[in-house]
Amino acid sequence: MLQQTQVDTVIPYYHRFLKQFPTVEALAKASLQEVLKAWENMGYYARARHLHAAAQEIVKRMGGMVPNTWDELIGLPGIGPYTAAAILSFAFDKRFPTVDGNAQRVLCRLHAIQGPIDQSSNQSEIHDLAAQIIPSEDPAYFNHGIMELGATICKPRNPLCHACPVGDLCLAFQKGLQEVLPIMRKRKPLPHKEMTAAVIRDNRGQLLIVQRPNQGLLGGLWKFPGGMRGPDETLKQGLRRHVREELGIGIRVRDALASVDHAYTHFRITLHAFQCARRNGKPRAIGCHEYQWVKIDRLDDFPFSRADRKVIEALWAKNA
Ligand code: SF4
Repeated sequence: MLQQTQVDTVIPYYHRFLKQFPTVEALAKASLQEVLKAWENMGYYARARHLHAAAQEIVKRMGGMVPNTWDELIGLPGIGPYTAAAILSFAFDKRFPTVDGNAQRVLCRLHAIQGPIDQSSNQSEIHDLAAQIIPSEDPAYFNHGIMELGATICKPRNPLCHACPVGDLCLAFQKGLQEVLPIMRKRKPLPHKEMTAAVIRDNRGQLLIVQRPNQGLLGGLWKFPGGMRGPDETLKQGLRRHVREELGIGIRVRDALASVDHAYTHFRITLHAFQCARRNGKPRAIGCHEYQWVKIDRLDDFPFSRADRKVIEALWAKNA
């Protein structure tokens, strides 16, 4: 949970998650939908899918015990070098450095590394430095300590060098570079995509929702039918095309319901939602995993992305 999401945001999710899935077995037995629902709004849903898949593998192949070796951990879904090191260090007190963003900043400043910190050669250098200085006694305390130092003292802006316990050792502080380092490569502006969503009602007032395929961004979540506007399409043309491709039906696109903005890691979107009615055809799951007609008050039973949740809020406001 803590990969990509800040501690304050994670805490309530963590407690609810452990209450709902108190053991590896409970998590393995749950449906992916339950897990995604518990994760809803925290983003980066691949983490939830991987955690669920890893729990199933741990139960199936490892007798329900989280492994304590690098090779076994790294073979589990969603576990890369950072997570493997974090588990080995924090759960098993093994001597593996865990270099998160905070630790990276501290080490970069301590050694006054002046190349871009997000360049792989500099990241390797920082990781090697961490591996050299981590003690064999209480390595987990060391990892906690360095992360905490970055979070509370060696902050991205205005580091509190005069209160820093390692100030005497810090090359950036000695050279007056603490405000300059770490250097990041210039990021390109995020591309922007125009997305569309069809809020299709039947004559009983039920809404048509579709489930995304399990893989990829937001995989396994539910959404309103629709997708990205093509280069030569109007929003309404793009919407009609997507609905035909996903469900094999024709729709009549009526009034705009809402336009919501949302940013992902690599792009931003504006999601334009329209009130729609089915014109012809019977829905079939062609370009989606599954579809369902649901009453508006049942939408809460399904996991949606944050952008789709905003559309649902607009829908509720309209129906209030
Ligand atoms: Fe960070 Fe300043 Fe401490 Fe150096 S002295 S580690 S820059 S807080």
